[in-house]
Amino acid sequence: MSCMNICPRNAINICEDNTGFKYPKINKELCINCGLCKKVCPVVNKMEENTYNLKAFACKNKNIENRLKSSSGGIFILLAKYIIKNGGVVFGARFNEKLEVVHDYIETEEDINLFMGSKYVQSNINNTYKKAKKFLLENKLVLFTGTPCQIEGLLKFLGKDYENLYTQDIICHGVPSPKLWRKYLEFLKQENGEVPITVNFRDKKTAGWNNYHVNYIYKNKEENVYHNNDIYMNLFLENIALRNSCYNCQFKKTVRKSDITIADFWGIDNINPNINDEKGVSAVLINSKKGEKLFENIKNEIEYYNVKVTDIEKYNPCFNHSTSYNKKREDFFYDLDNLTFNELIERYIK
Ligand SMILES: Cc1cc2nc3c(=O)[nH]c(=O)nc-3n(C[C@H](O)[C@H](O)[C@H](O)COP(=O)(O)OP(=O)(O)OC[C@H]3O[C@@H](n4cnc5c(N)ncnc54)[C@H](O)[C@@H]3O)c2cc1C
Repeated sequence: MSCMNICPRNAINICEDNTGFKYPKINKELCINCGLCKKVCPVVNKMEENTYNLKAFACKNKNIENRLKSSSGGIFILLAKYIIKNGGVVFGARFNEKLEVVHDYIETEEDINLFMGSKYVQSNINNTYKKAKKFLLENKLVLFTGTPCQIEGLLKFLGKDYENLYTQDIICHGVPSPKLWRKYLEFLKQENGEVPITVNFRDKKTAGWNNYHVNYIYKNKEENVYHNNDIYMNLFLENIALRNSCYNCQFKKTVRKSDITIADFWGIDNINPNINDEKGVSAVLINSKKGEKLFENIKNEIEYYNVKVTDIEKYNPCFNHSTSYNKKREDFFYDLDNLTFNELIERYIK
């Protein structure tokens, strides 16, 4: 969506295709052929390699309550707090009132919880790149967080380095379709008579971090489903409904363009079993001088251990490899329009 954000004539409409992912469409009547849309496209114009001497850590937020509320080791909340305490704004992914996942910004510590927790749906960037630029030009500190492609999209849109900009990405499995998520919410409404008020994809309360559950809160009840038994998580982890580009992702790489990369430290038990208390451990990769500064400023609030980059790579294939294509993907999206959700489950879930 860098193209839509940069277009001086608002000539780019974003339209959903049959898989529910958004793609740009140029309105030829408004287009003046300035070429800016192509110039800022992170797919058409690959960014030069980051040659920074990467540093890697296993980390845990010392505040156990905040770590339990986070998906991994609770690092995002600390980065966001640091920026907001210094008068800045933080961009990230939240649920809106319809439980759609959208990018937005926050300016207060109370609002950080809106962005906390992984939402396994592609978030809508909308016009947040433009909004971030406005804050940067007002000399505010900005922390922009998201998937690696969203960060490179922002950097291409901005076209130059801003000293007051910090970026944080995640190790990303791939993003599921917003249409699948909508249909799943409709299915939950049918089954329960209402849509949930909120969903936590990575609940640790029931059985800890490794055995995470999906937590659904309804008006009068709460449900916890072990992730391997959860319908939506099955579809996500089967790679059947990811964005097409996720199967050939050019943004998953060892040294990212973001300042700092955060992830789950899967496999920590093979490296140092004493660290894992089942409340969440993060893998943190420092990709730039600015990333070092961010890390320096949250160091007092975390327990951290130096690790090798290969320790992260070994147990987290999505770090620098695309997710494998599921051959049933095309059929799945056809059936998503033509079968009931129960029929879909029968056909596609083991
Ligand atoms: C779609 C997706 C796939 C992921 N795949 C992997 C993986 O394969 N391996 C791995 O180790 N980690 C993966 N993660 C990252 C991991 O789940 C945690 O988000 C990360 O470790 C941060 O944890 P935390 O405890 O520090 O903070 P949390 O509070 O848990 O994370 C909040 C951060 O996640 C961002 N975020 C949440 N949902 C989205 C979204 N839909 N799009 C963009 N940003 C979002 C927020 O903006 C914020 O920056 C994935 C996350 C998402 C959203």
